[in-house]
Amino acid sequence: IKEGHILIIGSGLIGRSWAMVFASGGYHVKLYDIMEQQITTAMENIGKQMEELDKSGMLRGSLSIQLQVSLISGCTDLKSAVEGATYIQECTPENLELKKKLFAQLDLLASEKAVIGSSTSCLSPTKLFTGLKHVKQCIVAHPVNPPYYVPLVELVPHPKTDPATVEKTYALMKEIGQCPVKLMREIDGFALNRLQYAIISEAWRLIQAGVISPTDLDLVMSEGLGMRYAFMGPFETAHLNAEGFKSYCERYGEGIKRVVQAFGPVPEFSGDVEQKIDQALCENIPADSDHLNTRREWRDTCLSHLAKLKKEM
Ligand code: NAD
Repeated sequence: IKEGHILIIGSGLIGRSWAMVFASGGYHVKLYDIMEQQITTAMENIGKQMEELDKSGMLRGSLSIQLQVSLISGCTDLKSAVEGATYIQECTPENLELKKKLFAQLDLLASEKAVIGSSTSCLSPTKLFTGLKHVKQCIVAHPVNPPYYVPLVELVPHPKTDPATVEKTYALMKEIGQCPVKLMREIDGFALNRLQYAIISEAWRLIQAGVISPTDLDLVMSEGLGMRYAFMGPFETAHLNAEGFKSYCERYGEGIKRVVQAFGPVPEFSGDVEQKIDQALCENIPADSDHLNTRREWRDTCLSHLAKLKKEM
């Protein structure tokens, strides 16, 4: 069991998953929320999730389930929660004003040592951290949902973030079994969402142009590109698909340029195409919470098996 403790702020979907990840790495975790009821629900939910993971042999880390559960405790007093925290992971709703208020509070409470990480998906470090006394200790550590199964964490510094903060966070993420990547500077959408949005944009245009059905488009990813992408990125894929990367660029570069130059404009993400995609999706998975939750559970089971397979490879 490691010294000090990790503080998770916000016990929703992402906060719960982070708490489990840090506990699996042998850290004491304090789970803070402004709503006491939310902490009670979160603790129950974490216990249940861990039991199911343990039963199916998918519990992460080498510690027993009893020990992992005992490492997580709830708390409602921010001041005492911050005391002794070596790393803080903020997981409150994606709302700039709310987060800024919280970081201002943390700025008054945090020691010179604690790293303050934010789970934000879209807000820039500049918007979140500018003006804070402890800005050099602040960093965006953007997880992918659910972090328990999907290990990537994008580390995005504020221009004033101390390089030592980046290194400490990187090492901590590695230690608990996540896969950190470093962005040298902030950029809207970070790296993951920029790639994701490029894909969703071209997918949209293919539906709009009547080239393929929404169901088949999803299959292009899940049964095609996605199979490889679970193990290697676009660069390594290219490297292997020719006699090395240079040979790939030589062979396919012109063709890629021709296709990319003919890409259409930025889609509206509304209207007839939206209607068409939604209808196709809802035929298989009606958009009510029962159906969506069943499918989310299935997705998480698939991801846990994939995570296990990747570890074994
Ligand atoms: P959520 O709504 O499930 O949970 C937010 C929690 O924060 C709630 O329990 C709420 O009670 C609590 N909260 C609200 N104000 C608070 C405050 N002032 N202090 C402490 N707790 C407070 O949200 P989520 O989906 O867990 O998302 C949290 C963050 O993670 C967001 O910034 C989001 O962008 C980011 N994120 C989400 C996903 C995702 O897919 N859900 C993926 C990556 C990153």
